[in-house]
Amino acid sequence: MEIIMADYYGTCFGVDRALDMTNEALNNYDTLYCLGELIHNRRVVERFEKRGLKVINDLESLDLKEGKKPTLILRSHGVGKAAYEYCKYNDIKIIDATCPKVKKIHEIVESYSSDGYSIIIFGNENHPEIIGIKGWSAGKAYIYSDLDDFIDNHKEDLSKSCIVFQTTYNTDKFNKIKEYFNNSPNNDIIFKSTICNATERRQNACRKLAGECDIVLVVGGKQSSNTKKLFEIGKEICKNTFWIENSNEIPYNLIKNTKRLGITAGASTPLWVIEEVILNVRKK
Ligand code: SF4
Repeated sequence: MEIIMADYYGTCFGVDRALDMTNEALNNYDTLYCLGELIHNRRVVERFEKRGLKVINDLESLDLKEGKKPTLILRSHGVGKAAYEYCKYNDIKIIDATCPKVKKIHEIVESYSSDGYSIIIFGNENHPEIIGIKGWSAGKAYIYSDLDDFIDNHKEDLSKSCIVFQTTYNTDKFNKIKEYFNNSPNNDIIFKSTICNATERRQNACRKLAGECDIVLVVGGKQSSNTKKLFEIGKEICKNTFWIENSNEIPYNLIKNTKRLGITAGASTPLWVIEEVILNVRKK
């Protein structure tokens, strides 16, 4: 069996940066709080938890009794402006691992909304990145999953609107939206292509891989939005595409007669998890 790796896969610059910052912080602090899971990969988070990382779901659960000054790491997904204000007010030290590409979207949203623009965000409304991005708008902000959702539900005047995208947004859906707004007569729309090229590269590489293989394994946490998108893209082209979190989930019975097996991984999947999968596939 030939194992083919996608041209681009695994952790991106933003996740690597957040992991390095956490690693370093845990050398300096006995306890480090993180608002939400640091990355969507339970095994990685568990390793950090053993060294003192504590995942909290809301800032109010931090112990702020007199004299306590907790240290909080902000993950690559970023948070809304209110979280920074809360930390400042309560003397909580922040180590900011927000990916600079997400930070850039925060700046766009803050700046245009302060100038009176409505913000239109395309992405998953429940994803922390999108919740964080919306949290930088000083005025109206709307979230839509795709073009159909926008056409069906956006009832506001489009003049003075600024459009941004989740960094992991599907590039095919993005192109449809771009075409739609290119044909719009409204020239007071600010259109910002905020998809991260790490995502685009991984999605294109997954498309190519799925076209070349009999089976594709997409490795990544089940909460990871970018892994889900890789899985969807792979599945459209190669019906034998499987989303696995680790080597325990390899569909061994299906791969034994495979000639060409492709492997890709989401942006929050560290190399050691991918290597473990490759090793176990080879063993069978
Ligand atoms: S996918 Fe892109 S935007 Fe998201 S963390 Fe990675 S580098 Fe940053």
